[in-house]
Amino acid sequence: MNPDEIGLAQQLARGDLNLDQIRADTPGCQSQVFLDSAGSSLPPDPVLNTVIEHLRREAEVGGYRAAAERVDDIAAVKNSLGALIGAEPTSIALSDSATRSWNTFFQSVPIHAGDRILITEVEYAGAAVEVLHRARRAGASVDVIPSDDSGRVDLDALERSLDERVRLVSLVHAPTNSGLINPVREVSELAHSHGALVLLDACQSVGQMSLDVAELRVDALSATGRKWLRGPRGTGFLYVRPDLNIEPAEIDHHGAEWTEPGSYRIADDASRFEFWEYDVAARLGLGAAADYLLALGMHAVEHAVQSRAERTRDLLTLIPGIQVRDPGYGDTASYNQPRSGIVSFTVDGIDSYRVREQLAVRGVTVTVSPSMSTLLDMSARALPSVVRASPHYFCSDDDLDAFAAAVHDVVRS
Ligand SMILES: *Cc1c(COP(=O)(O)O)cnc(C)c1O
Repeated sequence: MNPDEIGLAQQLARGDLNLDQIRADTPGCQSQVFLDSAGSSLPPDPVLNTVIEHLRREAEVGGYRAAAERVDDIAAVKNSLGALIGAEPTSIALSDSATRSWNTFFQSVPIHAGDRILITEVEYAGAAVEVLHRARRAGASVDVIPSDDSGRVDLDALERSLDERVRLVSLVHAPTNSGLINPVREVSELAHSHGALVLLDACQSVGQMSLDVAELRVDALSATGRKWLRGPRGTGFLYVRPDLNIEPAEIDHHGAEWTEPGSYRIADDASRFEFWEYDVAARLGLGAAADYLLALGMHAVEHAVQSRAERTRDLLTLIPGIQVRDPGYGDTASYNQPRSGIVSFTVDGIDSYRVREQLAVRGVTVTVSPSMSTLLDMSARALPSVVRASPHYFCSDDDLDAFAAAVHDVVRS
């Protein structure tokens, strides 16, 4: 093969993305530099149209008839999400947010006085307060597994902490405030060897990384629609390992059938964790978002996100007064782990909220991750907040250059 052919073969193997088409599908990325897919991304046109068309149909014929017309498409939403994470559709329960999904599983795990719950230093605030609340009510205790030098969960410390009283290990795949990626499978294997369950918060990984629940070996996983999946707001889902025999803490007549005046039968599959009523348009939109991603190919998306995030970090380090806050960045000698699409940084002498405002004025959308969102990690690193830039695959090189120029301008002004 000559070098040109090799290049082409590699491109095809990588399934390179058609950026022109993708950007044409994403009107929101044309008038600004959009770097907040870790917060709430820009849905592509097929998602937007799916939602609007269904709302319009509901207004024409009523919600029940409109849903009946789309039964197959509604059922297919779980097939699409399952395909994204290597799960059977019957192991997926749809909900209105990642937190709802997370709490649904967490509440269903029996936890009694004297039991232990393990979290890590990058635990998300929503789960952390729920863990503290439940532990207080149940008389259980919460222990934090420290991070190692790379920022990842310290597996030796985890092993030392595990005992037969640990019911659940809560692990965040990729935290909300940095480019860290935690070693999931290693945590699952350690936890299981001590009889503990693993609940994975995959909010910041689903939609930007290829992941496979069989390989990760988690017992449950929660994710949201509006972030890297580019789905509508108010959507999320829970995966529960099919052979896990766990009763939902709360049910209604969707998760269970009322069979006799005094008895009921809980559904065999993960629909036991769902309620009857939901936003049908949003759910169809979530399916359209998953289909859009599947059509692009998860590996191509992952490659695109990682290369854009690394390029963003490289551009930031060229600007005086900027500190990139992602684990291991700049430490190429000892850090060889991949990072997520979240780029976190601070600007010397300028508050993060002011940086965000000043970038907005210059047509760049980023967000701020405050200390409270990941209190343990941010306190340990003495950071009151970080600016968060999260470029998705629809961002162009020009976008990233414009972002760097805008940051430079903010620093100078
Ligand atoms: C955003 C986020 C959540 C919460 O997702 P919701 O859909 O808002 O409930 C949980 N964990 C992490 C790491 C997040 O970034």
